[in-house]
Amino acid sequence: MEVTVIGGGIIGLFSSYYLNKEGVKVKILDYRPIGNASSHAAGLIEPYRIEVINTSHMVAKLIDYMKRGAISIKSIDFPWLSKLIKIINKPLPNSLWEKMVQMATFSLREYKRLSEEVKGIEYHEEGLIEVHVTEEGLERAIKEYKKSRLSPRFEVVEVKGFSGGIKFLDTTHVSTEIFIEEMRKELGKIEVIYGKATMVSNRIFIGNKELKSDKFLITAGTGSREFGIPVTSFKGYGIRVKTRNNFKVPYVFSDYGVALVPFSKWSKVTYGFDMTSGKRQSSVPLSICSKVVGGLEEIDFNSGERPCTPDGFPVLEVRDNIVIATGNCRLGWTFGPAMGRIASDLILGRKPIGEEFSSSRFHISS
Ligand SMILES: Cc1cc2nc3c(=O)[nH]c(=O)nc-3n(C[C@H](O)[C@H](O)[C@H](O)COP(=O)(O)OP(=O)(O)OC[C@H]3O[C@@H](n4cnc5c(N)ncnc54)[C@H](O)[C@@H]3O)c2cc1C
Repeated sequence: MEVTVIGGGIIGLFSSYYLNKEGVKVKILDYRPIGNASSHAAGLIEPYRIEVINTSHMVAKLIDYMKRGAISIKSIDFPWLSKLIKIINKPLPNSLWEKMVQMATFSLREYKRLSEEVKGIEYHEEGLIEVHVTEEGLERAIKEYKKSRLSPRFEVVEVKGFSGGIKFLDTTHVSTEIFIEEMRKELGKIEVIYGKATMVSNRIFIGNKELKSDKFLITAGTGSREFGIPVTSFKGYGIRVKTRNNFKVPYVFSDYGVALVPFSKWSKVTYGFDMTSGKRQSSVPLSICSKVVGGLEEIDFNSGERPCTPDGFPVLEVRDNIVIATGNCRLGWTFGPAMGRIASDLILGRKPIGEEFSSSRFHISS
């Protein structure tokens, strides 16, 4: 069987990896270099966190981020927003949560296995400290995590210069740049086609030319909008830095939406939850991070997109000979292995997937 994977971001790479292992002939189609669209990320594998978007709490959090200058909104995706408004505060089915927990557990196991199997991968199991500016914010977060349906294991820790932190014990981290490089080597023999796909009546084209393949797998991130999936882009930025002081455990500054993650040759600062197409450079993230590492120096700057559905949960669905796998928002790396595994099972006709993951969940008539 021949499968064309449309989109070579992290979901496309994991899907291609599993399909390749099954002996399927895989081609990746992308208009950008493979992996580049996902390399900006912090590389935190956070199995006990899911960002539910369709809650008034999340909307309030975004407004708070805006006030602190952590996000910038220049344009609004109105069709997406109207779908969000229709499902605001609508509880998500238990079965969806259960499946996400299974997926997170699978992904965590896969990163560990891959880091043992593929020697070059840089993978660390050091947890994560979520830093809080105010006592009130810290207390609120502790209460939330205690009642979280994902039951994260955590302890409260001191962080100099801040009110305190919550240390998540099961978070791990992986260097995205190195991981992509190693994945490219793993997939060495796979054919890569450069081009931008479009879809008309479930047929795939590049320009006017119809593309032929036994099956197609769409893992196009925010580009999946072109294929009828309600995803919007929350843009973010990744800066590789050298820090003055060494540190082992990553930090997330929850009041600013900033992450600081250590690797052997550099550290990574990520920030931004923007609805804008331009690049936004800001000195705030670096100065916040400097507080815990005593100063830092920029190496390079990158940006990327979070493909978010109106509820923040992914889409996995089958349409004729097309499988769609996208919508992991700010957790594409975390859920990448599970998304890739399920997508390849769907391609192979092995595993039915519940209605919960169908994009039809957003097609609510008013
Ligand atoms: C600042 C920042 C930090 C982040 N940190 C983390 C983190 O620590 N942990 C975590 O789990 N997640 C993190 N994320 C989220 C994660 O980066 C995304 O969820 C992930 O990159 C999405 O992967 P994807 O493969 O779905 O899409 P993408 O990476 O966007 O890849 C999609 C690919 O499809 C291609 N494409 C699109 N349309 C077409 C078309 N029509 N034809 C051909 N090709 C097409 C694109 O060129 C692209 O290469 C972060 C995101 C940001 C912005």
